[in-house]
Amino acid sequence: MEKKKLIIAVDGHSSCGKSTFAKAIAARMGYTYIDSGAMYRAVTLACIEKGVVCGQTLDEEALPGLLENISITFRPSEGGPVSETYLNGVNVEKRIRQLEVASSVSLVSTSAMVRRKMVALQQEMGKDKGIVMDGRDIGTVVFPDADIKIFLTASAGIRAERRYRELKEKGEDVDFDQVKKNILDRDKIDTTRRESPLRKAPDAIVLDNSHMTPEEQMVWFEELLKKI
Ligand code: C5P
Repeated sequence: MEKKKLIIAVDGHSSCGKSTFAKAIAARMGYTYIDSGAMYRAVTLACIEKGVVCGQTLDEEALPGLLENISITFRPSEGGPVSETYLNGVNVEKRIRQLEVASSVSLVSTSAMVRRKMVALQQEMGKDKGIVMDGRDIGTVVFPDADIKIFLTASAGIRAERRYRELKEKGEDVDFDQVKKNILDRDKIDTTRRESPLRKAPDAIVLDNSHMTPEEQMVWFEELLKKI
C-alpha cells in the first residue's frame, strides 16, 4: 500500500535555519520543498525594480497592477536537486538573498493583497500533498490542517552570527550589527503585523535549535516521526 503523503509546515523567526531544516526533511521524506519566504522576496524584488518600494516606503496603490503581472515559479538548479526562484521567467535566486531585498521584504509582506496572492499560490503548490513548506504563516494560515507543524526558533545573537557567516561566505560586504538589526527589525514587523502575524500554531511543536547541529535536528525529527 502506498504511504499517505503528508504536508509538513516549518514556521519560525528569521534566520533560524528553517530552510536548511525543511530541505533536509524534504530529502528524508522524498517530498518537494517550497521556500515561501523566497516568494515574498521575489515580490519585493519586483517592487524594488518598479519603484513600488524604496526602503521603508511602500506605494500600496501601485500594488494591484504589479501583482497582476507577476509570475513566481521554482525550477531545479542546473545539475542539482535544489530549486531556484524565478520572477517572470528570470532566475532571481541570488538577488533575492541580498540585503537590499531583506531590508524591504517584511514591509511588502504586511500587505493583505500580497499575502492573498502568495497564500493562493502556496495552497495550489500543496494540493497534492507530499510537501515541506517553510515560512511564517504556513501552519496557521496556508495549511492549518498540516499533518506536522514545527515552530523553529533560536536566540537572536546566534541567528545573526549564522546569517552573517552565510552572507560573508557568499562574498557580500556586510556588517555584523547591520545583519543583527535586520533580523530584529524583521522579527518585530513579522510578529506585530495585522495580516497573518508570525505566531506558533497551537498544535505546532517548538524546536529551539540554538545549540543543535543540523544532524541533531534530524535525530529530533526522526523521533517526532515515530510519534505520528
Ligand atoms: O524566510 P525568509 O527570511 O526568506 O522570509 C523573508 C520575509 O518574508 C520574512 O521576514 C517575512 O517578512 C516574509 N514572509 C512572510 N510569510 C511567509 C514567509 C516569509 O511574511 N510565509
